Amino acid sequence: MIEAPPASLRLRIDKQALAANWQALNRLSGKAQAGAAVKANAYGLGVDTVVPVFAKAGARQFFVAHWSEVAAVLAHVPAHMIAVLHGVQNAAEAHYAVTTGVYPVLNSLHQAAVWHTTGAAQCHLMVDSGINRLGLPPADCGDPALEGLEIGLLMSHLASAEDDTTQNAAQLAIFNQAAAHFPAARRSIANSAGIALGSDYHFDVTRPGLALYGGVPCAALAGEIAQVAFPEAAVMQVRTLNAGDAVGYNATYTAPHAMRAATVSLGYADGVLRQWGGTLALQYQGASLPVIGRISMDMVVIDCTHGPTLREGDFVGLPFHLPAAARASGLSQYELLTLLGRRYAR
Ligand SMILES: *Cc1c(COP(=O)(O)O)cnc(C)c1O
Repeated sequence: MIEAPPASLRLRIDKQALAANWQALNRLSGKAQAGAAVKANAYGLGVDTVVPVFAKAGARQFFVAHWSEVAAVLAHVPAHMIAVLHGVQNAAEAHYAVTTGVYPVLNSLHQAAVWHTTGAAQCHLMVDSGINRLGLPPADCGDPALEGLEIGLLMSHLASAEDDTTQNAAQLAIFNQAAAHFPAARRSIANSAGIALGSDYHFDVTRPGLALYGGVPCAALAGEIAQVAFPEAAVMQVRTLNAGDAVGYNATYTAPHAMRAATVSLGYADGVLRQWGGTLALQYQGASLPVIGRISMDMVVIDCTHGPTLREGDFVGLPFHLPAAARASGLSQYELLTLLGRRYAR
């Protein structure tokens, strides 16, 4: 195969920060062991980059949402360490689970019945303690359909872990009641923000995702988490605008005076949605170069007034400190990560 030339978009991943974030979250999990949510291609950062770092740091439990996400993770860690959060909906998924040895997270009596048909016993179980999204209703915990299952991890998921709300304690109480039905299972309720809620929420395993990748869901984690992802894009063209020249689709920007402008290989297909345009500036050698005009699918134009030395082929940075980028763009930190797309060299 002919090798493609270097990409004009790159996503630099700080692996030391990634390992340090897992270690910080593992330490903050107290007696519990931190796992890692690596669904959606490790929140967009790349399973092949991320999973070996967490495995080396000591993570022993990896969570994906879909069966289609299993193979990429299985290339790096043994099957018994992988849990599929969506569980088994049908015979095809159950067959795949049994064949690979990857554990489903059962979410309903229907899923338990599907799992029983395989003859396999080992699985995980998600109880819905009040998010009302996916998970076994607490009232079903004593159902005979669950007998014979060997539940490794009994889980639940918090709806508002990043908020100071009574919903967290209410969910915890329901989870503790449900757990009494499954005394042999290890327990897990905390996502990233849940870890900061304290030892009552830690149980045996925690399930951080966002914070591993540099997201800061709550103030308590702010000093603990480092930025991991640094998107960079190449300058494709530099031009001089005259006063009155309009830039981009629908001519939303008109140059007030003569200026240098650069066209950068970065667009909304790369996660920079148009709504970010009003406030976004790209970084070059310490300078902030504002985006002018509309964000296109594959390009943005920036005002180079404060970057007089910027040339074609230079790379500029997308400001991607997640809490700040979320405030500036109106996107959530989760959306910013998972929108990054496939064109970055990772
Ligand atoms: C995605 C997910 C997590 C990780 O949540 P973060 O908020 O990203 O830390 C944990 N548990 C479940 C069930 C999830 O779906």
